[in-house]
Amino acid sequence: MAIVVTVRRFLPYLLLICSCSGPLGDKPSQSPRPPNVVVILADDLGYADVGFQGLEDFETPHIDRLAAAGIRLTNGYVSHPYCSPSRAGLLTGRNQHRFGHARNPKFGAGEGLPLDETILPEVLARAGYITGAVGKWHLGDAPRFRPRERGFDEFFGLFGGGHDYFRSEGSDAREYLIPLSDNGAEVPVEGYLTDQLTQAALDFVQRHAEAPFFLYLAYNAPHGPLQAPAELLRRVRTIKDERRRTYAAMVTALDNGVGQLVGLLADLDLSESTLVFFLSDNGGPTPANASDNSPLRATKGTVYEGGVRVPFVVAWPGTLRAGSQYDPPVSALDIFPTAVAVAGIDVPVGLDGVNLMPYLSGDRPGPPHELLYWHSHEGAQYAARTPDRKYVRSLDRVPELYAILDDPSESEDISAEDPAVAVLEQATDSWHAEHPPPAWPGTSAAGLFKSQDGG
Ligand code: CA
Repeated sequence: MAIVVTVRRFLPYLLLICSCSGPLGDKPSQSPRPPNVVVILADDLGYADVGFQGLEDFETPHIDRLAAAGIRLTNGYVSHPYCSPSRAGLLTGRNQHRFGHARNPKFGAGEGLPLDETILPEVLARAGYITGAVGKWHLGDAPRFRPRERGFDEFFGLFGGGHDYFRSEGSDAREYLIPLSDNGAEVPVEGYLTDQLTQAALDFVQRHAEAPFFLYLAYNAPHGPLQAPAELLRRVRTIKDERRRTYAAMVTALDNGVGQLVGLLADLDLSESTLVFFLSDNGGPTPANASDNSPLRATKGTVYEGGVRVPFVVAWPGTLRAGSQYDPPVSALDIFPTAVAVAGIDVPVGLDGVNLMPYLSGDRPGPPHELLYWHSHEGAQYAARTPDRKYVRSLDRVPELYAILDDPSESEDISAEDPAVAVLEQATDSWHAEHPPPAWPGTSAAGLFKSQDGG
């Protein structure tokens, strides 16, 4: 009681002292500038197709350097096994099935990320961030769905699911040939598209180096069509298979872009004030683009690990431990709340992702997620992951269960001997029952596995 009285008596004087500037008090307190946030998203990159995950037939030195400067998320997942739903999850922090974003929007059909969903740049703008999207959008091409209508200050890139990498290369798909958008102005592909996107990203960072910025750099590489410049093809000429060689050259361009962006952050003395994520939007569609998901099972479009577990790095030099790895399951859904938390904003309610920072720093033990779920309408596929079990089911298959820590290849079904299969089946059905039907009809499942699938 005496202490309270004493504090009360002196409180006015304490406040007076604190409000002064001068020898008695510090300068008026100013919250430190929040870190920049950069999300580098590859498209259809195979799990094994980065050096830090065992790549052997070519090299990704810049992505590897980023991984060495940060934390490799070895059980890093996306929320859907193909493009647009995965991106909808990443940018909302909510499982996209909650709002019916179950399929890729068809170009020109007026389909897109529902307008009542809040996406990451809208929230970061509240903390004074300048926000830019560069690259593939694929969340609706109609004007109302475009990035600058959804909270991004700037956009350079393509609205659809893919694009030819050179001007007038002659792809069959119309959306692959239309001009790029530079803040609403139509511009052609100049040179090689991946390099052009890198330049747009560098330009964004240079112009906004003084402000906290959020850059969403969504390369369409190495999604099909398989097209690469001669100079990069020469660098990987030891690869005999022509399609794998072209894919390797495309990933090399992506790697160069990562190197240029990370190098610019260093040049601008922003490395320690920038949180960087690198990941792929889904697993490699191995038949379509000659990617490699080893040792994971299956490909893009499936809810096996090869469809949803992706190369995933988070780096923040000086804050997160460099050169380490984090093994519990994490999700692309976690990017939103993590970015919002480091920006100093209250994390909105209703998210499925969690702020990873206390887990990555070691302050909070235990896994960020006890359960992650997947559902793809193509083949009525379902999956669930606990820290040590993976459940998989599709319409024509009985439930499967894998001891995922020892069996990341999902090669030995243990459903007959492990009662966890029934628990996970019920949990998955309950999760699915919460969701509305798809907000728009889908394309055929077969299209997912072709090279120009828009996904
Ligand atoms: Ca993709």
